[in-house]
Amino acid sequence: MGREATVSKKNELYPSLFADQVLPEIAISAGLKNNRKRLSEEPMPRIGKPLDHRTLKVVYVGIGPNALWNALQTKAKCSDTDIEMFEKRTEYVRNHTVNIDDKCFRSLKSYDNKILKEGIDQLRNKILKQHGYISCKEFETDLKLIAERMGIIMHAGSDYEVVSIGDDKVKLKSGEALFDALICADGAHSKSRKALLKMVDNPNYQGEDIVFSELSSTDEDSEFKAKKDLQYRVRVKYQVQGQTKKLASGWLNFFRYAYATFKVMLSPVEERIRKLNEQASEVTIDFFISKEEYDSLSGYNLGNAGNLSDSKVSDLLKEKIKNWQAIKHKFCQETIIADTEELTPYTLSIFHARKVHHITPSGKLICILGDAATSLPYFRSLNNFLVVGADFGRKLGSATRAKLAKTGKSYEKYASRRARWEGFKAKLKNLMINVLKLYLWVSNKVFWQTNAWDPEKLKEMRKKLPEREAVWHHSPTILTGG
Ligand SMILES: Cc1cc2nc3c(=O)[nH]c(=O)nc-3n(C[C@H](O)[C@H](O)[C@H](O)COP(=O)(O)OP(=O)(O)OC[C@H]3O[C@@H](n4cnc5c(N)ncnc54)[C@H](O)[C@@H]3O)c2cc1C
Repeated sequence: MGREATVSKKNELYPSLFADQVLPEIAISAGLKNNRKRLSEEPMPRIGKPLDHRTLKVVYVGIGPNALWNALQTKAKCSDTDIEMFEKRTEYVRNHTVNIDDKCFRSLKSYDNKILKEGIDQLRNKILKQHGYISCKEFETDLKLIAERMGIIMHAGSDYEVVSIGDDKVKLKSGEALFDALICADGAHSKSRKALLKMVDNPNYQGEDIVFSELSSTDEDSEFKAKKDLQYRVRVKYQVQGQTKKLASGWLNFFRYAYATFKVMLSPVEERIRKLNEQASEVTIDFFISKEEYDSLSGYNLGNAGNLSDSKVSDLLKEKIKNWQAIKHKFCQETIIADTEELTPYTLSIFHARKVHHITPSGKLICILGDAATSLPYFRSLNNFLVVGADFGRKLGSATRAKLAKTGKSYEKYASRRARWEGFKAKLKNLMINVLKLYLWVSNKVFWQTNAWDPEKLKEMRKKLPEREAVWHHSPTILTGG
C-alpha cells in the first residue's frame, strides 16, 4: 500500500502545485522485499493488477520526464487504461536546467481531464516565469505529482529495476509485470533499446526473455541510424555572494565585455543566473570546448560533477574559467563563494535508433521513447519528444489490443520523421557554430585589436580572485583578441 505524504513536504520548491492536497507517495509494496528471499523455482510475484480483457495495460520502464509525459497523455485520452511505471532509482538524478518551448505544452491535450489541465497550467506558468527554463528534476517531480493525482501507479527503488523483457512481460529485480504495451524510456544508455533490436534482428525470436545483463555493452553504433558527437561542451556552475547580473546585460555590455570575453573563451558563452536566497546566487555558464579539454574531464558526468581544483582538469580549461570569473568579478562585482564550482562535460550528439517499435509473437507492442530512441543536440531532445510522446500517448490511449500494431507503426513513422527534421536543423546550427568558433579564433590573430582584454590586465584581475591561484603555473596563452 502507498504511504500518505503531503505534497508540500515532498515538493518544497513548488508549494503552489496542488499545495493543499494530500497525495499518495510513490507506491512501495513492502512485501516485495521479501520476495527476493524466495527460492528461485517459486513463481515470481506479479506486480499490480493482472491483465484485464476490457482495458489496455501499459507498462513503463523508467520514470523520467518522457515516460511521464507520454503516460499522462495516454491516461488523459482513456482514464481506464491501466498504467504501471517502474523506476530503479528512488530519486530522479538529472538536475540540469532544461529550456522548454512553450509550444510543447500545446501538444499535450488535456481533453476534459481537470487534474491534467490544472497541473500543466501551473507548470507552464512556472516555466514561463523562469523565461523557459526549469531544472529537469523539478519538471520530472511536477509531472510525477500530476501522474499520481491521475491514478497512474508508480513503483520506484532498486527492487523495481527492470532486468529483462520478453514476449508479454517484464521481469524486475523482484517480481514481474504483464503488459499489452511496453514503453521503454530508460535514457540514452538504454538496455531496452538493445533488447528490442535483438528481437527485431532475430527472425526466429519466439518470445523468450531477453536478459539485460547478457546484452553486449559494446558496439552501440550499430543500434543507430546515425550517431555523431557534433560538439563538446562543459557546464560550469558556481555560487556568488548576494545578487549578480549577466555579463551581457544589454547591447553595450555585450559588445564591450561579452564579445571580448567570448574571444578569451574561444567560444560563445551562455550564462544564466539563479537567485538561491538573499545571501547567494548561482551562476551557470555553458561553452564549447575542444576534444582535449573534454577528455580531461573524463569520468565526470551529470550525476558526478567535477571539481575545478582537480589536477586532471586541463590547465587551459582552468584558465578560461578563472578568466571568466575575474571579468565578472570586475564588471559585475561578483564575489565567488570558494569551492562551489561544479564542472559537467557533455557532448552535443545526434542519434536515432534503427527501430523504435516491435510487435512480439503474441501481438504485444514494445516501444522505446525519449533519449532511448533519439538524442538531439542544441537542447532539443526533450522538446522533440514532448511533441512526439504526446502524439504517441494520444494514439496509445485510444488503441485497442487489435490496433496495437498499427499504433506502433504510426509511432515509428512519426518519430523518424521528427528525428530527420530536427537532425537537419541541428546540422545547420552546427555549421553556424563552427563558423563562429573559426571567426573567434581568427579575430584573436589579427594585428589590429578591438574589443580585446589586455592579457596583463587580465592577469592582474585574476590575482584579485580568492582561492587556488597559486596552484596554477600555466602562462596565459589565448588572451589577446581582435
Ligand atoms: C546538460 C544537459 C542539458 C540539457 N538541456 C536540454 C534543454 O534545454 N532542452 C531539451 O529539450 N533537452 C535538454 N537536454 C536533454 C534532456 O535532459 C533529456 O532529453 C531528458 O532528460 C531525457 O529524459 P528521458 O525521460 O528520456 O530519460 P532520463 O531522464 O534519462 O530517464 C530515464 C529513467 O529511466 C530509469 N531507468 C534506466 N534503466 C532502468 C531500468 N532497467 N529499470 C527501471 N528504470 C530504469 C533511470 O533511472 C531514469 O530515471 C539536456 C541534456 C543535458 C545532459
